[in-house]
Amino acid sequence: MNQALFDRARAVMPGGVSSPVRAFGAVGGTPRFVARARGAWITDVEGRSYVDLVSGWGPAILGHAHPEVVAAVQRAVADGPSFGAPSIPELELAEAIVDRVAPVERVRFTSSGTEAVMTALRLARAVTNHNLVVKFAGCYHGHADPFLVAAGSGATTLGLPDSPGVTRSVAADTIVVPYGDLEAVAAVFEAHPDQVAAVLTEAAAANMGVVPPPEGFNRGLRDLCTRHGALLIMDEVLTGFRVGPRGWWGLEGALEGWAPDIFTYGKVIGGGLPLAAVAGPAALLDNLAPAGPVYQAGTLSGNPAAATAGLATLNLLDDDTYARLNATADRVASLADAALTDAGVPHTINRAGNLFSVFFSGDPVFDYDSARKQDTAAFAGFFHAMLDAGVWLPPSAYEAWFVSAAHGAAELARIEEALAAGAAAARR
Ligand SMILES: *Cc1c(COP(=O)(O)O)cnc(C)c1O
Repeated sequence: MNQALFDRARAVMPGGVSSPVRAFGAVGGTPRFVARARGAWITDVEGRSYVDLVSGWGPAILGHAHPEVVAAVQRAVADGPSFGAPSIPELELAEAIVDRVAPVERVRFTSSGTEAVMTALRLARAVTNHNLVVKFAGCYHGHADPFLVAAGSGATTLGLPDSPGVTRSVAADTIVVPYGDLEAVAAVFEAHPDQVAAVLTEAAAANMGVVPPPEGFNRGLRDLCTRHGALLIMDEVLTGFRVGPRGWWGLEGALEGWAPDIFTYGKVIGGGLPLAAVAGPAALLDNLAPAGPVYQAGTLSGNPAAATAGLATLNLLDDDTYARLNATADRVASLADAALTDAGVPHTINRAGNLFSVFFSGDPVFDYDSARKQDTAAFAGFFHAMLDAGVWLPPSAYEAWFVSAAHGAAELARIEEALAAGAAAARR
């Protein structure tokens, strides 16, 4: 049935999917069509159930279809799914974000993380009157033209480091440097005085597999940007409200006394519906139309059903939930480590808050080049053995594994059992 549906899908949709990684290109085989997902479990159209370690790529942080979130969204949709006018859910979600993240005074909602980062860069260019953006190899910031240069998982999986259709003049305004390399960033500022609008970084890199920022890296970027009149854009589309109640900034900047100029959020703040945001101090964000001259808009932006899902999700994320997510991540990572060690499979597990990923390489992974040294064929074998044993992993060696608050003892037992088969397959 999955195969028949995939054949039908390929007849009407490019590659049969709405987003490339879903097509299993990196691991081979046929993607499963999902019928439903509840808690930590996902069920395909053939009625097979899997323990889910993708969690919708992040949003299902409470587990899929949390009853309180579903009930809130049902009420919101019944009142009309979209108005194209101001409504209370977006206001309350903006207030919730402002309450949680001290440097944030204004929030502009978009429908996708891509739009949020695009908007952040436009804002940075407008206020600095500079053109260049510095990004890090292996960091992903959505699929807008200026970011499709050394962009991590999706592009890496496809073997397309750049994309046709991105013009040379656009690409020329993006300068790519190795992740974690402050000296390379300093050298860019020296070589292009008064030209850099922004340094754009994932708060913790998690789209080339997980690569936590080296000690002092984010703070160092903050200092360099301040010194050279550029803005620091911290992309928290993946980490925001997932790794803690104040996102990655709460684990680092809040403790060290610094903040980026602009944050971007997505994934968790939509509670599983399409919603993302660009956020920061009033002095910057009030440059956006209609408060200021920088144009940005969206028919479905701040959609009431999506804002309701996001707000219900944020309201359920208390300290206990985050403690539980950390403990589950600890447990799954150590089970994977033990299984691969027992089977003699070279591997490296990187961790950033409750995010982690397994690299099939015995060497340390600290940037894009070291991430790409892994044995992707070993991952493909591992992935399919895990899937056959009922565990749903990201279908690429370059993705984080996402736990949820719904993962408990039964799910961990299933994962442990599957890992023995997965590790054996990775060895072959
Ligand atoms: C997912 C992601 C994006 C893009 O968000 P979309 O909603 O898929 O457009 C941007 N930045 C980071 C860090 C992401 O993980």
